[in-house]
Amino acid sequence: MTEARSTQSARGFFASRGVIVLVGLSVMLLIGLGTVLYGLQERQSQLRDTVRENALWAFYQLDREANRFENAVLLALVGDDGRAIETVSLRYEILVSRIKVIEDARFVVTNEDAKPAAATLPTVAAGVLALDPIIKSLRNDPVADQRALRDVIGALADLRKATDAMLVQVNTARITAYVKERERLTHTYQVIAVGVFCLALTMGAIIVHLVRSLRESEGARATLKKLNAERESAARAAEAGNRAKSAFLATMSHEIRTPLNGIIGMVDLLDGSDLEDQQKLQLDVIRRSGTSLLELIDDILDFSKLEAGQFDIETRDFDLSDLIESSIELISPRARAKGLGIIATYPIGTMNGDPARLRQILVNLLGNAVKFTEKGDVVIECSIEHGETNCLLIEVKDTGIGIPADAQDRLFKEFQQVDASIRRQFGGSGLGLAISKRIVEALDGVISLRSEVGRGTTFYVRLPLRGPFDLRPIEFETKSRALRLGMASTHAMLAMQRQAHQSNISSFPITVSAEQETDTIVDVRWVREMEPSAKFLAGSIVFGYGADAYEMSCRAVIEGPLTVRRMRHALAGSETKLPVSDRQRAKQISFEGDVLLVEDNAINQQVAEGLLRRAGLTVAIANNGAEAVEMAANRSYKLILMDMQMPIMDGLEATRRIRASGEAGIAVPIVGLTANAFVSDREACLDAGMNDFVPKPINRDKIVAIMQRWLVDRRAETEDKLQTSPAGQATVQPAGPLIDVDHRASLARELGEDYVSELTDSFWRDVDQLLADLSRSSADAERVRTLLHTIKGASESVGFTAIALAATDAKKDFAAGQTLDIATIEMAVAASRKAAA
Ligand code: ADP
Repeated sequence: MTEARSTQSARGFFASRGVIVLVGLSVMLLIGLGTVLYGLQERQSQLRDTVRENALWAFYQLDREANRFENAVLLALVGDDGRAIETVSLRYEILVSRIKVIEDARFVVTNEDAKPAAATLPTVAAGVLALDPIIKSLRNDPVADQRALRDVIGALADLRKATDAMLVQVNTARITAYVKERERLTHTYQVIAVGVFCLALTMGAIIVHLVRSLRESEGARATLKKLNAERESAARAAEAGNRAKSAFLATMSHEIRTPLNGIIGMVDLLDGSDLEDQQKLQLDVIRRSGTSLLELIDDILDFSKLEAGQFDIETRDFDLSDLIESSIELISPRARAKGLGIIATYPIGTMNGDPARLRQILVNLLGNAVKFTEKGDVVIECSIEHGETNCLLIEVKDTGIGIPADAQDRLFKEFQQVDASIRRQFGGSGLGLAISKRIVEALDGVISLRSEVGRGTTFYVRLPLRGPFDLRPIEFETKSRALRLGMASTHAMLAMQRQAHQSNISSFPITVSAEQETDTIVDVRWVREMEPSAKFLAGSIVFGYGADAYEMSCRAVIEGPLTVRRMRHALAGSETKLPVSDRQRAKQISFEGDVLLVEDNAINQQVAEGLLRRAGLTVAIANNGAEAVEMAANRSYKLILMDMQMPIMDGLEATRRIRASGEAGIAVPIVGLTANAFVSDREACLDAGMNDFVPKPINRDKIVAIMQRWLVDRRAETEDKLQTSPAGQATVQPAGPLIDVDHRASLARELGEDYVSELTDSFWRDVDQLLADLSRSSADAERVRTLLHTIKGASESVGFTAIALAATDAKKDFAAGQTLDIATIEMAVAASRKAAA
């Protein structure tokens, strides 16, 4: 193979050398031919020279004038009048002038052809000039004149001979020159012919060379093409294999998740019952193992989806503080177990992006930070970098074991960990960072890290803010001038100091343990559950796990992580002793009412039923969509939890039917349950008419969150009235599905209550008009579409979700060829009107 290649390249080398020589030769030939042609042209121009012609002409004229002069003399001899004599004299003058012309003309001397004749010229000239006295003496004396004329005739005989001879000489010389010239030309043409022949030969050789190398390169191209095709088909096969592998992984992960969710759910249920301590410990082991197995499967599922290219990115507006708070919530139990502080600072407000993906990155980084840290704090700092492209910068810092420099790059590759001992000690799949990196890159961002072994690690995520955003530093409303900060680690202190600075409050570290309480300085201190309880000043804010224990002795306690939102709340609630504790809240939350659970899997049924009952709800169960439709028609429920995939009738179809069944069907909140938390599933749920969507597995926290969103929490309601609900904690919305309360509240904030109520009134008028139009123009498809579109857009913009949904459904059904369903929209309008009143 290599030999063949080397001979080929050698041939190529010689071929190219040959072509170069040939080209050089052709160039030389061309130059030679050019020179010859140039010479030829020169010579031709010489041939064309009139000098030679002029010489001949001059000698011819001289000869002719000599002849004319002789004739004139002869005429004068026979005639006797004075005019003949005058003619003789005139002709003589002309003859003399001819000689003079030849003598004066330079060509006579320079021209080769005229040289012999020019040599005779002086003799002729002398002979002619010798006649001058005779010509002058011709004066009407006939006898004397006759004699003189005869003398002239005598002298002329020699002269005529001489001029004749001169003419012949010049002519002969000219002819000889012509002959010579022609011979030279013929020779030149021969040279040219030989040159052209040689040139043709070299050209031919060049063409042969070119054709040969063309053939060779064509052969090479064909080989290359073949190789390419082989490589492509191999790549296709590999890709198909990869896809099949990913699809297999995705399916398997899904199949494993379902029973695992059952196990974890059952553990949650068991946990609530009376158990011995030993059993509780065992249960905890099952829960932890189950959860880490679920995390592992989720990672694999995620990664296989990324690999298979099924990676959809959503863009929508979301609240950054909600996102960070909820991510911290997920991690906080683990931090609590290890006695680690969590401190979070971030700007508040909304941004545009994919919240689910961002949460995934955050949870992974925070999870790692907690996992690899034994002592100190985990700090998350978010900020906006203003520049050509505005960026969201997220920094996750820990005081953990750190990562050696040589392992840092590797960790972003899949299944990579620092070393085997890490796997033994901490477990993990080594997929988290690889997934995070892919997501960050899919969002056009960058992820990097800085770490020092034994001191800690910081991960940086920089994401461009493509869409609109409204993020600003949080402001602490407080009378206090300064904060005295006591955190476990320097970087937590720095983060809080930066935050205080942004909120225009000075801050300094706690250096003296007991100082006089002042109105203007607030201690912010971190406690650990296992610490022996310390004394705090009445003006202090205590945060950390177990902070609740100091409730009586402090201004406020923040149980768990310290985030800017909690801090603001703690500072603002300076008059009351306020525990900002989620655990307590979660324990106290209860709901009431009938809930319909639609789920085909028996284990999932039991888990969800148990959790719902624990939250104070009455539960009815439907085994599939068809049963659900029937049950919903016979009884009104406060909420329906609807699985998506079920035999007989799936959740989407059941939702559509319930929505189409009448006023009660439109009013009831329906929340979808599904194993795949992807954008397409979410869209399918909402399109079918569901109000919300929850990824499985269902657990206590998710149940509480759903109920808080879609049912009125009795306790929270009273709390709301008393205005003691911690700001930003577990948002409680007395929301029905008919109306988008959030949207209407934000409209009211931005436009004013009065304006919104005016807007709503005019919407009712418009919608009545539009519905009337709709029933009139049901035959005009285009008009129907436009009207439905208008109804949908208008109702969305004033927050009437149910009407918008009904219009969307009607539009879809109408497009699919079904009859126009105005009644459902009218029902939605009536129900919404009632709810809004
Ligand atoms: P996993 O944590 O499941 O092993 P990751 O991809 O999230 O997978 O992390 C890969 C490896 O990177 C970890 O096993 C650990 O060795 C290292 N690592 C990640 N984050 C940290 C951190 N904050 N501190 C120390 N090491 C870390």
